[in-house]
Amino acid sequence: MKCRFCQTPLHAVFLDLGSAPPSNAFLNADELNAPEMYFPLRLYTCSECHLVQVDEVQKHDALFSGDYVYFSSYSRTWLAHAERYVARTVERLGLDPNSLVMEIASNDGYLLQYVKARGIPCIGIEPTAGTAAAARERGIETIEQFFGERFAREFAATRRTADLVIANNVLAHVPDLNDFVAGLGAVLAPNGVVTVEFPHLLQLVAQRQFDTIYHEHFSYFSFHTAQRVFAAHGVRIWDVEELPTHGGSLRLWACQDNATHRDTPAIAALLAKESAAGMLAMDYYHGFQPLADGIKNDFLAFLIDAKRNGKQVVGYGAAAKGNTLLNYAGVRSDLLGYVVDASPHKQGRYLPGSRIPVVAESRIRESRPDFVVILPWNLREEITSQLAYIREWGGKFATAIPQLALS
Ligand SMILES: [Zn+2]
Repeated sequence: MKCRFCQTPLHAVFLDLGSAPPSNAFLNADELNAPEMYFPLRLYTCSECHLVQVDEVQKHDALFSGDYVYFSSYSRTWLAHAERYVARTVERLGLDPNSLVMEIASNDGYLLQYVKARGIPCIGIEPTAGTAAAARERGIETIEQFFGERFAREFAATRRTADLVIANNVLAHVPDLNDFVAGLGAVLAPNGVVTVEFPHLLQLVAQRQFDTIYHEHFSYFSFHTAQRVFAAHGVRIWDVEELPTHGGSLRLWACQDNATHRDTPAIAALLAKESAAGMLAMDYYHGFQPLADGIKNDFLAFLIDAKRNGKQVVGYGAAAKGNTLLNYAGVRSDLLGYVVDASPHKQGRYLPGSRIPVVAESRIRESRPDFVVILPWNLREEITSQLAYIREWGGKFATAIPQLALS
């Protein structure tokens, strides 16, 4: 296996989480008697460019099936993040009704709806049929396909170039990283800007977020590595922000190499911060396995202890990160009775691997659990306030990462 960016053979294992089904492969009741496809979930660090990456064993069609159940609009925190981003970016770049905004992996139009509301033309690129259809229902033009260099060149030649390209939480999920970044360069107007958000590897390690690792999440970037990948395709990063989203993300502001945007001091500051953390040496990438194992063991001990004491434990949030944790820990519905999710597209189905049923929130009031494990810990505040009523019967919240915490 070779590095998906620089082709260096990969030998250094960053983390081995055993094997699991794809995290979005939710099961219907009639599929419970059938086998599931399990794939190894192992990450490597490239010794040359330090890109941390999943061993690519799957065809990406298997991972992003038309049955994909994630609809962005169901998270209020995420919608608020999108709305703030649009307001600020439109102002910073001076976008107007003559501009074109393109979002890659535009999902159900959760973000572009705010661009459209400002009278700025926009277009979504979204390979998943169900979410693309939901975006069109909002009146957002959506091209149903994967983004890459060929598409970008064709679009720029037959339509126009884009003044703003938005790629939020997609870079990490791209199987052909070089093709994707080359496409960003190809579709940008001469002075256009692309903003790219992805989870920051520095935060993943510092906060032990091993559950953000799953098959569909191919690449894990430091700022150093991202800068190197973009530069290789003539795309220059001129600003960077550290965001709290997804446990700690970066937002890159990039442009054509010869565009007029000047580098901000944030670039050098973040490079220095990463160097100080040791991210330029391979030592940094060793030693994550025992940390992940310790968290997994503590979580499992908590569940077993609760079970032995006759306590009822359930989960909230049928997200990818929950599936990684549950499958790595080998948790099944005997230890975690059900998982609540707000999305009606997930309710009535079963989590991949663990086969824990996904139900509506009303079940919590009915069954009055002793503990609710919040699986998407990045939405902890939103969920604890939404479920504050579990205190009425002495219920508590639990999170597993960065360490087991009960509150
Ligand atoms: Zn590499």
